Amino acid sequence: MNTNTKRKPIVIANWKLNGGLELICTSVASFIGKHFEADIAICPPYIYMRDMLTFLQHSEISIGSQNVSKFKSGAYTGETSAQMLKEAGCKICLIGHSERRSMFKENNLSCQIKIGNALNHGLMPILCVGENKEEHDAKITKDMIFRQVTECLEGVELDGRKICIAYEPIWAIGTGASATPEIAQDVHSFIRQELIKLYGEETANSIRLLYGGSVTKDNAKDLLAKEDVDGLLVGGASLDPGHFLAICQHASDSSAS
Ligand code: PEP
Repeated sequence: MNTNTKRKPIVIANWKLNGGLELICTSVASFIGKHFEADIAICPPYIYMRDMLTFLQHSEISIGSQNVSKFKSGAYTGETSAQMLKEAGCKICLIGHSERRSMFKENNLSCQIKIGNALNHGLMPILCVGENKEEHDAKITKDMIFRQVTECLEGVELDGRKICIAYEPIWAIGTGASATPEIAQDVHSFIRQELIKLYGEETANSIRLLYGGSVTKDNAKDLLAKEDVDGLLVGGASLDPGHFLAICQHASDSSAS
């Protein structure tokens, strides 16, 4: 951890196209009376956001969205704007998840526009970046990350506004093959160096870098122990409230260490 900037850990659940009333109830119940020294957010499918916000209104848990439109309003069937998300009570939004990039044709330019929209409406963007298996095997991970980070953040002024970056190697997402803590740290430290070039030391050192890709209650602690792993983005394991709670607890504990 940078000695000048103690970054508060953050854990984000990405439910993707999963969940239902049962998961909402068990998940909400699992957080009753819990306090964490970490920021915790859940990104459920849009349709469940309002229910979850109501149930979680007296808790410390935030609600986030899994996506945001690059458009502000108009004839864009199926889209949800940053302003709507903000009005609905959302605090954060994922941008550029690899599934959106590969299945819904998102690219660095659309991510850049979405980041601007989110920031302008007071949402904290969580920019997702990561290399695929071929790129990993070809050892061009950092080239890919460099391109994603610099293109997505081109022209993005932070001016004190918050953003997070989630490093999610595609080969680790949903495969059970998490990156080692050493790999995560190596890439995170590379991202930090690039952020220093873009925003200067103070701002770069305040930006939280999350790791995502087959995080479990068993590997969370070791990942979070790394200097530049400031949080976790959790897919599959977030669908089990007991497991997700354990991951949140590890994050909370890591803040004390
Ligand atoms: C994700 O898709 O953001 C993710 C991290 O998934 P999983 O934890 O299931 O690998």
